[in-house]
Order: sequence, then C-alpha cells, then structure tokens
Amino acid sequence: MLPVERRSRIKALIQSKQNMKISELSELLGVSEMTIHRDLRPLLEEGLIHKTFGGITLASDVAETKQQTDSCIICSRGVKEQLAYRIILPDNQIETACCAHCGLIRHRQLGSEMNQALCHDFFTHTTIGAPYAWYVMDTSLQIGCCQPQVLTFANKKHAEKFVLGFGGEVYDFETALEIMHNKMNGQEGCH
Ligand SMILES: [Zn+2]
Ligand SMILES: [Zn+2]
Repeated sequence: MLPVERRSRIKALIQSKQNMKISELSELLGVSEMTIHRDLRPLLEEGLIHKTFGGITLASDVAETKQQTDSCIICSRGVKEQLAYRIILPDNQIETACCAHCGLIRHRQLGSEMNQALCHDFFTHTTIGAPYAWYVMDTSLQIGCCQPQVLTFANKKHAEKFVLGFGGEVYDFETALEIMHNKMNGQEGCH
C-alpha cells in the first residue's frame, strides 16, 4: 500500500472510530508503529487529529461537525450509533445509513462497488460484517426507525429466539437484500 493510500485509510478509520491506538493502526495496516507516526504527522499538522497517550483522537471540532452531519444517506434521519449501517467505499469514504432498512437499500444500489459493510448486533451492539449478519423483519417490537423495520443479529440462534418472543422472520443477508428491494418496489407477495 502506498503511503498516500495508507494516510487516507487512517483518515477514514479515525473519522469513523474517533479514537485509535497507534498499535491498533500498525496492526490493521501491517506497517511498523514508526511508519504510523510518520503517516500521522500531516494529519496532526492539519489539526484533524490530536495525540493521546499511545494513540490519536479526532479533533473535537471535527468530531462535533461529524455528529451534526451524521445523517442517513437514504432518508436523512439522524443516525443512532447502535442501529447504524455503514458502507466503506473503495476510496475509503464512509456512508452511514440510519438502520439496516436504509443500509440494505443503499447496499443494493452500490452492488459490488464497496469495500465493506458493517452493522450492529441488536442485543450486544457489537459490530458485524453485514454479509454475515442475520436479518429480522416483520417483528412486532418497534425500534423507532424506518418501516418496514429490519433488525440485525450476529447470531442466528439469537435472531430465532428474538422472533419467538416478538414475532417476525429471520433471513440471511442475500435474502434480506432481495426482500427489501421487492418491498420497496411494491412487489411483496410474489414469493
Ligand atoms: Zn435511513
Ligand atoms: Zn432507519
């Protein structure tokens, strides 16, 4: 990876995570901590980030602007972190959707033109790669975001237990993507 690529990746990472350790960056990017320090210098000079003990943090004014502008790419609703669905584009830009409903719509629009998509487990709020998540639709529990609702789970058993209590259906990623697309195009009932 070229230094310039690495710097833009560091920029994207710190903008989405807000705090990172030097050791974490060195591991993620496969270069020495010394190299990371060198990569960080221009970002420090730009005032985008500040140094902390053993790491870096996004400058607070940048973080504030980010929070104000962190709205859904599809419906412009404000994004709640625990429901957020993020798509990382090939140029390391990050698109944020308010929930898996909008995330799946955006995901299908982009097709393969992305590096990665991430969502959160409904119970634990841990990050999951979207293609490995389980999707619950048509449940009775209201999460207060877009309709029809889509909830995401890391573990299929948890999703199935959730459905036992609150109703709905569990789908894998590919199926959820198609169903969402059909629902938004008014083709529901074809299956
Ligand atoms: Zn949305
Ligand atoms: Zn939503």
